[in-house]
Amino acid sequence: MQETKSTCCYCGVGCGVLIGSEGGRITGVRGDPDHPANFGRLCSKGATLHLSAGLEARALHPELRTSRERPRRRVGWDAALAHAAGRFADIIRAHGPDSVAFYLSGQLLTEDYYVFNKLARGLIGTNNIDTNSRLCMSSAATGYKLSLGADAPPACYEDIDHAGCLFIAGSNTAYAHPVLFRRIEAARARNPDLRIVAVDPRRTDTTQCADLHLAIQPGTDVALFHGLLNVLLWEGLCDMAYVYAHTEGFGVLRETVREYTPQRVAGLCGIREADILQAARWFARGPTLSLYCQGLNQSTSGVDKNVALINLHLATGQIGQPGAGPLSLTGQPNAMGGREVGGMANLFSAHRDLANPEHRAEIARLWGVDSVPDQPGRTAVEMFEAVRRGEIRALWIACTNPAQSMPDLNAVHEALRRVEFLVVQDAFRDTETTRFADLLLPATTWGEKQGTVTNSERRISRVRAAVPPPGEARHDWVIAVDFACRLGARLVNGRDAARLFPYAEAESIFDEHRATTVGRDLDIGGLSYAILETRGPQQWPFPAGARTGLQRLYADGVFATPGGRAQFANVVHRPLAESASARYPLHLNTGRLRDQWHGMSRTGTVAQLCNHEEEPWLTLHPDDMARRQLADGDFVRVQSRRGGLVLRVRGANEMQPTHVFLPMHWGGCHMSGAGANVLIAGDCDPLSWQPELKHAAVRVERLDLPWRLALRALLGRFDYASCGLAGREEGVVVLRAAHAWAPAAELLGGIDRILGLDVENAITYRDVRRNVDKRVLLEHGRLAGVRLAGETVAAAWLQQHLVDGEAAEEIRRWALAPLAAPPGGQGGRGRIVCTCQDVAEQEIRAALRQGADLALLQARLRCGTECGSCVPELRRLLAA
Ligand code: SF4
Repeated sequence: MQETKSTCCYCGVGCGVLIGSEGGRITGVRGDPDHPANFGRLCSKGATLHLSAGLEARALHPELRTSRERPRRRVGWDAALAHAAGRFADIIRAHGPDSVAFYLSGQLLTEDYYVFNKLARGLIGTNNIDTNSRLCMSSAATGYKLSLGADAPPACYEDIDHAGCLFIAGSNTAYAHPVLFRRIEAARARNPDLRIVAVDPRRTDTTQCADLHLAIQPGTDVALFHGLLNVLLWEGLCDMAYVYAHTEGFGVLRETVREYTPQRVAGLCGIREADILQAARWFARGPTLSLYCQGLNQSTSGVDKNVALINLHLATGQIGQPGAGPLSLTGQPNAMGGREVGGMANLFSAHRDLANPEHRAEIARLWGVDSVPDQPGRTAVEMFEAVRRGEIRALWIACTNPAQSMPDLNAVHEALRRVEFLVVQDAFRDTETTRFADLLLPATTWGEKQGTVTNSERRISRVRAAVPPPGEARHDWVIAVDFACRLGARLVNGRDAARLFPYAEAESIFDEHRATTVGRDLDIGGLSYAILETRGPQQWPFPAGARTGLQRLYADGVFATPGGRAQFANVVHRPLAESASARYPLHLNTGRLRDQWHGMSRTGTVAQLCNHEEEPWLTLHPDDMARRQLADGDFVRVQSRRGGLVLRVRGANEMQPTHVFLPMHWGGCHMSGAGANVLIAGDCDPLSWQPELKHAAVRVERLDLPWRLALRALLGRFDYASCGLAGREEGVVVLRAAHAWAPAAELLGGIDRILGLDVENAITYRDVRRNVDKRVLLEHGRLAGVRLAGETVAAAWLQQHLVDGEAAEEIRRWALAPLAAPPGGQGGRGRIVCTCQDVAEQEIRAALRQGADLALLQARLRCGTECGSCVPELRRLLAA
C-alpha cells in the first residue's frame, strides 16, 4: 500500500491526511502526524474519507441535453466544451459580458479558483463571479477589513494552548470543527485556570464544556459585545495605552456603548446581568482568544457582529499576542484560498480593491490585458435573483450545490429552471443542482486532485493525488482552461486565451498567483511547491527571503490600514430581518451535525456517518411540544413566510422556549421537500451580502399521517419521506415515509419492483383490517430486504438484522404471523454515538446505569477512544 500526504476536503480546520491507496484505488486514510493543524488527529468525517471514495455516486462522463424536454445524454469532452463555448459566446455577443456568471465553491483548490477568476474578469470581462463562501465567511472577511485593514485572521491554532480565556461565539465547534475542539479539550485538561465562555442561543456539546454559557436571544450578539465593552470601560479594564497608540475611533464608540449597560443588555439578550459582568472580567483577564463562525456570519448584521467582537480585542490590546486575538473559524476547506485570489464578486486578486483603479491596473498589467471590469459583480443572492429575472442568461456552477444551500430555495429553483444555459461541473452526479443542468461536466475530487488550500489560520497546505481521475473526470482548472481557450477563439475582444491560460500543471498556476501577492498583506512571494514539499504547510504572509510564515499578525500594533491604526467600528444593535409574530411565533435556528457535511453529496454516501442522526429532526423545547400536544416522533408541518416542510419532531431541553432547531444538511435528494433553506429568506448583510441563513420566523403545526412505510430504497411522492443509509461494512438503504392515507396498491407494487421484492420467494402478509402489510425477502439465510406499509413499528428491529445478518428464522416466523410489532418487544440499537467503534446510545446508557464514568466507558465499550468526536456527547450523557 502506498501513502500520499494530502489535506481533508471538509472543514476549514484543514487537517493533514495520509491517503492509503493500492492498485489505483483509495483504501484507507489516517491523520498526518506531521501536519500542524491536527498532529495526526481526524474527526469522524475525516476518518471515513476513504469510504466516500467509491465511484457509485460519481459523475464519470460529460452529459448534455440540447432541449429541456429531453434527458441529458452522454457526450465526449470535445462536443461538451464546444457546445458550452458556443452558447456562452452567443449570449455574450448578444447581451454583453455581464449576461453570464460563475458560481464557485470554497471546496475548490486555490489553483482552480485562480483560473476561473481570470476567465471571468480577464477573458470575458465580467465580475459576475461569486462563491458559496458568500454564505459562509464573507461577513468575517468584511469585518477584518473594516477593523484591521485586511481580510486576515490575526491569530493561530496554537493560541488555544496559550489562552487564559476562550470566547466561543456562534460556533458549535464540537460538531463543526471537531479536531480543533480536541485541542480545546486538551488545553483545558492541561490548564485548570482556562476559562471558556460560549455564546449560543442553543445548548450544544460546545456550550456544555463552557464555564459560562451565554444563551442569548438570536441576533443580539452586537448588544452583548457592546455590553461587555461597557463593563470593561466602567471597571477600568481597557488597555487605554494600546487604544491611544494603535487605534482610531474609540471616542465615538465609547459614546455608543454608554447606552449598553449590563442591565439593558441583559434584557435585550435574555441573560443574567451577573453573567455579563463575569464574561467581561474573564475576557479582560485574558489572554483571550475568540473563536467564531456562522452564528455571527450568517446574519443581516453579520459584519456588525464581527467588528463588535474585534472591538473587544482592540479595547483590551488582546491581538497579535500569544493566546489572544480574533480567529474566525472557516467553514469550508478553502474559503480562504478563494478570498486570496479574489474569486468573489466584490473582491479582487490578492486582497486588492475592485473599486481602486490602481489595483485594477496592476492586475490588468500582471495578466497582460488592457483592462479588467470596474463594476462590482453580482453576489450569490443577487446572482440568482438576476438569473431569475433573465438578466444573467448563462450560469456556470462548479463544485457546489446552490439548489440545496442557498436561502429562499423556491426562488432559486425557479431561477435554475429559467436560465437559458446551465453548466454544472461536479464530482457527484446526483445532487439537487445537477438535476437542473443542461451540461454536466465530471470533475475530479479529493484523492485525485493536485493543488493547495488555505485553512482558518492562514496555513497553505498541499493537496495531492493518490489515484488517477476516474472515468473521464478532469481537474476543475483543466476544464476551465479548456473552456477558456475555446471561448476565447469565439470572442472578438482581442484577448488571446491561449496566452492568458498557458498552464501545463497546477504548480504554474500557483506560481502566477503568488506573483500577484507580492507587496500585499498576504505576500507569498517566497513560497513555492518545493518549500511546501520540504518544509510542510506554511502560513502567510511568506515573502521572498522569509524562512517561515508569520504565525500571528499585528504583534507590533501596526495594522493593514492606510494609517497603520486599527479602526473601532461604531455599530449598533439591529433586530433580526424577520421577527417572530402571532402567525410565525417560533425562531428557527439552522445548523450542522457532527457526522454530516454540507448537502451530504459526499458524507451521505457513507453508511456509518448516517448512524448518528438518521433523519432531519426538528427539535423543540418540551414546553412548546406540550403546548402543541406533540410527542417525540410525531409529524409536523413547519412553515415560514416562504415555504414549508414536513418533519418529525423531538423535544430537548437544549432548546430555549420558542426556539426550534433544524439541521441544514438534508436537501431534496434525501428528504421530501427542498431542505431547511426553503424556510429561510434571502435577506443579506448590507456590507458582506451574506444571507441570514441562521434564522427565520416559523410556525409548527401537528400533522396526522397514520399511514407509514418503511423500506430499503429511494422514493418520493409522500407527505413525509427521508432516505439515507444505515449499517457499516455493508450499507443499507433506508426510506421512511408517511402519508395521510394509504396509497394505491400499484404504488406499493412499484416499490416492491424497485426493491427486487416482487419475487416469488418473498414472504407477503397483508391484513387490511389490522393495517399490516409486509413483504420480506430472506436470501442465503439472512434478511435481504423488507417493505412495511401501514404499521411500521418493527422497522428498527428489522433494520438491525439487515445490518447484522442474524435471526433469519425468527424473522421468517414473524413475517408469516399476523403481527406488526417485533417479537418480545425487540427494537433496533438506536443512535450510534461512537461512529469509529460502533457503540450505540442504548449501550452507553446501560453502562452508565451500572455506574460507569468516562474512563470506564472508554475502557469497556471503547467509545470515544479513536477520533474523539463523540467525547463531548459522552460527557453530556454522563452529566445527564
Ligand atoms: Fe476534516 Fe474533521 Fe479535520 Fe475538519 S476537523 S478538516 S472535517 S478531519
